Amino acid sequence: MDNNIEKDNSGKSSFSGARQKQHYNNSRGRGRQRSSHSKNRESPPEYRRQRKTSNQRITSWSYYHEGDVEIPEICVYSIDKRCMYEDTGCLRLHAKCTCQWQVIQDGKWFNFRNFHSEELENAFLDVTKDSVKITPLDPKLLGSSGRDMIKILGNGQWEADFENLTLKNLTSQSILTSKLFIRRLSTQSAAVSKSGKATKYEWYFCDSKKKWIKYGDVDSLGHNHLVPLITSDEIELNFSSDSSVQMMFNNSLYRYQLDFKTMKQKNLNTGKERSVRRRPVKKQSTKPNPRGKKENLPSTWDSMKDNDTMIKVSLDVSSQEYCDVMSQLLITVPAARVVSIMRIQNPFLWRPFQNKQAELAIKYDGYEKLNIQKLFHGTRHEFIDDICKKNFDWRLHGSSTGQAYGRGSYFSNSAAYSLKYAKQDSSGHCFLFLVEVIIGKVTRGIESMKRPPLNPATSELFDTTVDNVDSSKIFVKYDSQEYYPLYTIQVKC
Ligand SMILES: [Zn+2]
Repeated sequence: MDNNIEKDNSGKSSFSGARQKQHYNNSRGRGRQRSSHSKNRESPPEYRRQRKTSNQRITSWSYYHEGDVEIPEICVYSIDKRCMYEDTGCLRLHAKCTCQWQVIQDGKWFNFRNFHSEELENAFLDVTKDSVKITPLDPKLLGSSGRDMIKILGNGQWEADFENLTLKNLTSQSILTSKLFIRRLSTQSAAVSKSGKATKYEWYFCDSKKKWIKYGDVDSLGHNHLVPLITSDEIELNFSSDSSVQMMFNNSLYRYQLDFKTMKQKNLNTGKERSVRRRPVKKQSTKPNPRGKKENLPSTWDSMKDNDTMIKVSLDVSSQEYCDVMSQLLITVPAARVVSIMRIQNPFLWRPFQNKQAELAIKYDGYEKLNIQKLFHGTRHEFIDDICKKNFDWRLHGSSTGQAYGRGSYFSNSAAYSLKYAKQDSSGHCFLFLVEVIIGKVTRGIESMKRPPLNPATSELFDTTVDNVDSSKIFVKYDSQEYYPLYTIQVKC
């Protein structure tokens, strides 16, 4: 239930708060005209640390550890333009994504690291989910801002509860740190904002079969006559306009009351109560790709011409996909200055990779046992195109990392580690690949290995050799069908 989160915190608003709200109200839909303030793409300001001077208010960014803001919302202007209050202190949280999850401690809100915020958001997008376990923090993989978060979360296992907006520690015995409160900040609701970065929500009720049904749809029992004469969008408009009032509506038989505080729908004739949920809608790719659907290519891919064998697509800095890649990069390179991120669309590498996953999923009895991870690979600029077309091959692209753990292609879960092997080009840029890799079963590798050794437990070859079985940073792969280059990341060295 996030009905408290997006309410305007008007009680706290100062004169400048009123002024900023005015700015928002007056400039809805005029975002494009502000492009003269566009940020320099080479060094987006969110990746630079801001210093506080004398009494000046500073604008909070989602990548800072502290995330207290007077108006608990994401500033739509910060996402891909320049907010006019950035230098004097915007009352809203600045971010490159449309949402940010936070945790409160000692009365102050702190930003979850990007990967945690994403884990929470991905689960929250699914109306059937009422909780999610988030990945325990690994101190070895965290940058400086992540180390601040470890003071709050430690390295235990936490589970978020979306009904009560709490985070429960599943490993700690201590009462003091066993539960924390969380919240979700996002851009204004699309019901009241015309900004392209506004957040669209849908409303659901829980039917008698415990299925979540979107308002306006028929329940899972097919009770056409019980469909309320109100749509999800109408509820959202009411909620966004004033969440303190109860909403009344009816269908052909009954009259209902919807209480936004308790998130319950009550049938005023029978007294029957039902739980209600409001969840954001996942943004669809702006360019749907019918060919991609037909051939089972990723729905996020842009359409390709029939004679294209591989294309690279520059990601929009405001897209979720860009944020996802950034969040993984920033874990170990928090000061990374990213120039561009390109998506690699190569159906001739993608299909074999999918086939291999299907084959191994049968062998290991389920996809979840394949341990598919996104790993980095640093390389020289001149190999980029060849890798995008033909995949990694250490025999062709050399091995700047040495071959200490086997003769194969090397990948790492640490961007900082991979960056050491990315050679600077003439314009001072370095290149990393983010690669999807099937890890499968691992064993420690040695220099002479031309393939992984036999696993005595299964009498089959291991899938991957690593530097350290318990805490692997380096992964060596021997079969090119077991990895797919997802993105190239160009950074200023
Ligand atoms: Zn702003």
